[in-house]
Order: sequence, then C-alpha cells, then structure tokens
Amino acid sequence: MKFHDIHCHLPDNYFYKQIDMFMQEWKNMGLECVVSVSSNLSESLRSIELHKKYEEIIPGIGIHPWSAKKSLTDELKNKFNQLIQENLPLVIGEFGLDHHFIKKEEYYSHQDETFRFFLSLAEKHELPINVHPKGAEELVAETLETYNIPSHNILIHWYSGPENILKKFIERDYFLSINPSILGGSKHIVVLIQAELSQILTESDGNVKYTIDGERIIGSPALVPKIMKKICEEKEKDILEISNILHSNLRRYLNLG
Ligand SMILES: [Zn+2]
Repeated sequence: MKFHDIHCHLPDNYFYKQIDMFMQEWKNMGLECVVSVSSNLSESLRSIELHKKYEEIIPGIGIHPWSAKKSLTDELKNKFNQLIQENLPLVIGEFGLDHHFIKKEEYYSHQDETFRFFLSLAEKHELPINVHPKGAEELVAETLETYNIPSHNILIHWYSGPENILKKFIERDYFLSINPSILGGSKHIVVLIQAELSQILTESDGNVKYTIDGERIIGSPALVPKIMKKICEEKEKDILEISNILHSNLRRYLNLG
C-alpha cells in the first residue's frame, strides 16, 4: 500500500541528521512522497538538498508565521525567487497566519506581508501551497480569495478553526490535510467527517508529538497508515480504495495530473 505525507518538517535536525535511516524505514512501509515543509530560508535550502538526494522528498519553501517577525528584505525575497528559478518540483510552505499562538499584534502586519509575498510567488509560478491558518481562519479565507491560485493547489494544513470557515473551504474545493491528532480524539476529526474524500490529503506534521492511547508519539510519515485506517472507518471504504483516492488527490495537488 502506497501513502504520502503532505506536511512534515524534514529540515528539523531530528529527521535531517538521520534521514537515510528514516527514508529506508518509510519507503519500506510504502511511502511514495513526503513534502518537506520549511520554516525559514535555511530550512528551505535543506529541503531542496534532501530532494536532490531522494526524489520522493518534495521540497517546501517558506517562512512559518511564527518566524515572520520583521519586514522581508529585498535580499531575502530575491533568494526565494532564485530557488524557484532552479525549476525543481516545489511546494510553498509552511506559511500562513497565526493569531492563536502568536499573541503580539505588532507581528501581525509582518505575518500578513510574508503570507502575501509567498501567495504572489505561488500565483506567478503556479505552485501548490501548504497554508497554516491557526486562529486567523477568516482572514486566511479572505486573503486567499484575492489571489488567482487554483483550488486544487491549495492545501489548508491541520484545520481546527470555526466550522463556518471550514464549510467555506470545502465549498471552494480546497484540499484539507488529515493529521494524526484525529487518532487522539481531537476536534480536527470534524474535517474528516465534513470533507469529501476527493478533498483530503494525509500529513504527520512531524516531529510534532501526539498523545495516542495515553502514549506520547513523535509524528512522522510512519503514522500515516494509521490515519488511513481511521479514514477507512469514517468513510466506510476499504484501504485499497482509500489509497487510490489519496494517490490521485496527491497528483492533482502537485500538478501531476
Ligand atoms: Zn508544520
């Protein structure tokens, strides 16, 4: 059975320093693709380096909203532009807005500038995006509407916000990621219940830690088969059918057909 992880922080030292061991383990389990999301420029470079080593790793480039604490310099913008010129398969992420974990309102204008900068890049270069919407879901919905990015290239990562905005995202036919938190009884399960199967992708957000059956587990692509089992139960389909649907969703998201 093949599976993918659409959002995993591979540049983090935990993965990066033992990537050969991890990739061997995950590929043996059936991993066909992992998007290596990045939180800043140096992580973006690491993700690209990892792609050059493993074609299954699709590099994500971006600045996480937690790191968007000052104005973008022209130098930084140029560096991200240059990365795109290299013509590699790329995803924009992790980026977005966060008004939940980031309470200091003085950072919100920098988050907004950074979010818009990367949305413009995605629009111009027709790149898939991996958006963090925490605590700013409505603003994310409004902002996305002002860019000409096809719905099949938009992934809302780990949605846990208000249901009316979730409904909006579903109506717009965006992709929504399903995260291991559903295995621990989180309200994120609402996303799986409400979204169509054609709108979901799976992710670990590794190396975030989850509590599952009373145990602390480090997120990694190895958790995705468990998420798929839960999707089978919730949507009352067998694993082969779920695996095929997720595979074709992945291809649509990455502009592969
Ligand atoms: Zn993340």
